[in-house]
Amino acid sequence: MDERVEAQAPSNFLERIIEDDLAAGRVPNNMIVTRFPPEPNGYLHIGHIKSICLNFGLADKYQGRCHLRYDDTNPEKEELEYIESIKRDIQWLGFDWGEHEYYASDYYDQLHQIAVRLIEEGLAFVDELSAEELKTYRGTLTEAGKDSPYRDRPIAENLALFEEMRQGRHPEGSMVLRAKIDMASPNMNLRDPTLYRIKFAHHVRTGDKWCIYPMYDFTHPISDAIEGITHSICTLEFEDHRPAYDWATMIDGIDHAPRQYEFARLNINYMVMSKRRLLNLVKLGIVDGWDDPRMPTISGIRRRGYSPESMKDFVGRIGVAKSESVVDYSLLEFCVREDLNKRAKRLMVVLDPIKLIIDNYPEGKVEYFEAVDNPEDPESPTHQVAFSRELYIEAEDFSEHPPKGYHRLYIGNEVRLKYAYYVTPTSVEKDETGAIIAVHCTYDPASRGGTSEDGRRVRGTSHWVSVSEGVDIEAHLYDKLFASEYPGEKTGNYLDDLNADSHVVIPHAKAEAEILKTQVGDYLQFIRNGYFCLDSKNAGEGKQVYNRTVTLRDSWARMKQKMGI
Ligand code: ATP
Ligand code: MG
Repeated sequence: MDERVEAQAPSNFLERIIEDDLAAGRVPNNMIVTRFPPEPNGYLHIGHIKSICLNFGLADKYQGRCHLRYDDTNPEKEELEYIESIKRDIQWLGFDWGEHEYYASDYYDQLHQIAVRLIEEGLAFVDELSAEELKTYRGTLTEAGKDSPYRDRPIAENLALFEEMRQGRHPEGSMVLRAKIDMASPNMNLRDPTLYRIKFAHHVRTGDKWCIYPMYDFTHPISDAIEGITHSICTLEFEDHRPAYDWATMIDGIDHAPRQYEFARLNINYMVMSKRRLLNLVKLGIVDGWDDPRMPTISGIRRRGYSPESMKDFVGRIGVAKSESVVDYSLLEFCVREDLNKRAKRLMVVLDPIKLIIDNYPEGKVEYFEAVDNPEDPESPTHQVAFSRELYIEAEDFSEHPPKGYHRLYIGNEVRLKYAYYVTPTSVEKDETGAIIAVHCTYDPASRGGTSEDGRRVRGTSHWVSVSEGVDIEAHLYDKLFASEYPGEKTGNYLDDLNADSHVVIPHAKAEAEILKTQVGDYLQFIRNGYFCLDSKNAGEGKQVYNRTVTLRDSWARMKQKMGI
């Protein structure tokens, strides 16, 4: 082991195993090889990030390598679109599989040869039981299974039938190839597991070459062995499959024996993370595709404005363990905020505008103030913000009847306009319904830059946008897609717990003109309103659409809540 590895203590049980294996010389060429094996039947989600960071992270830490292997043995559900999205998502996280991109379907010929060899050795047979019968013969967790009546078919007959299956001479469901292991095994996965089934389906990569497809428990361990994987890491639900995994890697002629290790999958409350359910949300049109900013998919959170660094921080904090748990959604948002606070460019945007008119400010005059892009960064660049007589402020920043503790604008209360001047409201203008359309105020020219000459202090600071110099944008405010902590907990149907307010569109928010310089992928903070990003889907259509990534912690909102307002 080199110094870099020794310098860092193992941080989870898998690192401990790997370090023991390396120290004991159990790893061929002293090079650990892991793999990330997605099935291309949907887009990757936050749960997969845990697995990606683990597999690629271990390879990085121990100077091994990590393969990207598509587990593509289910032709009906798999699509090219998914294959491509998976690559994009892993690259976005900053991981690189180099030349090690593989497909289980690359091994179909080898898998077929191994299956034939198993038949020749009397270790596999063609079974013609119906699906229903197969189930009954399999037994239960408490009851041993029964041998199939086809189990003792002569080898020659098995070979001939398997070949006929391959040639497409038997209909789907009429027969399968099974291993002969042990129908009385306490482990159901060892009760003569199916190795091959017939499927007349077009495969994304192999086209119509095959009409028999190998099962996961047969394909996965052998793919691992072929690639020289040393540590095959998967989630806990595969623990029961480990004996089947070990069986397959012990087949004669397979000379590399990888080991399988299981860890707890990532679950987060208020989310669903199974691809089947996510696909359903897409198909039902409940979300705007796999990359809807409310989706827990990697493409969704990317469009929402989460950074890859914050996601790595998140999975680093939750760690790797062997027991199932549910991570709180607020930890995810905490990591997103921590990261964005350090990198987001601050802009002034008013989401719910009312006008503020400064009666003693010259008409037609425009002056500029310098705004620091990011006060968290001592080397931050700055930009100019235009100021004029008529401004937009947030409606909630003015109160006609200010509650106790309200430090923003009300008649007679002097407040700072960020970067600019102190202003004091004098009167309001209302429409015929009584709604406030403008607040009039006066400003103190001596308070330029936001501090007064006589040192008098104000308690509130409001952000603002010049009416004449600002621009209109569309803001999309996102919230949790599900309103309940465990979607479907009460009714059994997760669709019953959708959050009706998960997507709010503000068609005419007012923004300082600097916003027009934003590119897709830039991280922004709209002061007091949260972190935002330019929407990648609607970019370049002349429309300025911004997605809210996450809210800021807002002291006023918290206080309002406390006071029950
Ligand atoms: P899902 O159950 O969400 O449909 P899956 O397990 O079927 O996911 P795969 O494409 O087979 O998805 O997964 C690729 C790898 O990612 C597997 O090794 C799997 O164990 C791992 N993985 C999937 N979901 C999670 C999760 N929530 N947390 C950690 N790892 C996961
Ligand atoms: Mg799967």
